Amino acid sequence: MKMNTINTKPNQICTRCVMDTTDPDIAFDENGYCNHCTNAIERLKQPPYGLPPAEKEKALNELIQKVKKAGEGKKYDCVIGLSGGVDSTYLAYLVKQWGLRPIAVHMDNNWNSKEAEHNISNICKILGFDEKRVVLNWEEFKDLQLAFLKASTPDSEIPSDNAIFSALWNTAKKYKIKYILAGYNQASENILPGAWAQGYFDEIYIKSLHKLFGKLKKISFHILTTFELFFNYRFYNTKLVSTLDYVFYDKEKAKQIITNELDWKDYGRKHGESTYTRIFQEYILPVKFGFDKRKAHLSSLIAAGQLSREEAIRQLSVPIYPNEKSIQEDINILCQKFEISIDEFEHIMSLPIKSINDYPNDSKNIKLRLLKITRNIYKNIKPIFISSSRKNILL
Ligand SMILES: [Zn+2]
Repeated sequence: MKMNTINTKPNQICTRCVMDTTDPDIAFDENGYCNHCTNAIERLKQPPYGLPPAEKEKALNELIQKVKKAGEGKKYDCVIGLSGGVDSTYLAYLVKQWGLRPIAVHMDNNWNSKEAEHNISNICKILGFDEKRVVLNWEEFKDLQLAFLKASTPDSEIPSDNAIFSALWNTAKKYKIKYILAGYNQASENILPGAWAQGYFDEIYIKSLHKLFGKLKKISFHILTTFELFFNYRFYNTKLVSTLDYVFYDKEKAKQIITNELDWKDYGRKHGESTYTRIFQEYILPVKFGFDKRKAHLSSLIAAGQLSREEAIRQLSVPIYPNEKSIQEDINILCQKFEISIDEFEHIMSLPIKSINDYPNDSKNIKLRLLKITRNIYKNIKPIFISSSRKNILL
């Protein structure tokens, strides 16, 4: 299929990272450096990620003590998300080492692979953690996911992302827990252009797309809104901590540890935990929209000094899907689960590209305008969404 792109600028690639004009909002300076890596380098200097070793260890100890103190007298002292991916599994392992008492939340949107199911229940059993599985109503969730695809915006992971955060915060509120420890890490997840995904907590946008393109009258599960997030931060004083930034995180070493200690099963390839994430991020997003999220992930690693630009370019030259057969297999799975024909899928792929701005959204919401005075909440939560696969990182 021919690759579409919404970019109208001449093609240009950053001379320091591998971000390019497939992000329509990218800007370059006189050295050819883009705004993404320039900003990422600045963010990486900030604590806790940017702290020197001794201070980082001190900051981690302080964090652990704060979590323990806030959890005194309660059944749990923190919430962790668990997807069964490397980051969230390693975080679960660390949390046990630190002597914390988490409740492990897993948002089940009906797309888990068998390996993910094995990993999730096994990890909780070995670590002795209570598992809270939030299972979404599949008929409703399917209707919402399909509505996003039909809306033809690049935001089709938002129903899952919103459900993940909703599950985390609802659990924290239910058990009066003050800390949500996320497996986010700045080194690999620092960069994601806004144009590639937006509207995470935009209730008007999410519900509008469902109304316009869904078959069901309404969805009953909870949509987490920006306004609610504000209240969660301000009035419940619940903190979302990008916990892996407090340690020196080496993904390959982490894999070895969780394989040995937790009988963790490798998925064999990226996004092996969810067929939907894989086909959306590795086929629909690059082929239809021209957005290859590997560029953002690899550029984050370059900015963090963990990867050379040459190696990133080499990795990008490898096709995302191993072969045409596996693309077709995943498309078949997607069509079966959504109960649509291959022709309908091809029709969705050929629809003109839209963005959040083509639909009702909360940019004109007066309540949210008032909230602009609390811009710091966006600062706090925004980095969490900068990820190539939020499910992997957070749950
Ligand atoms: Zn750059």
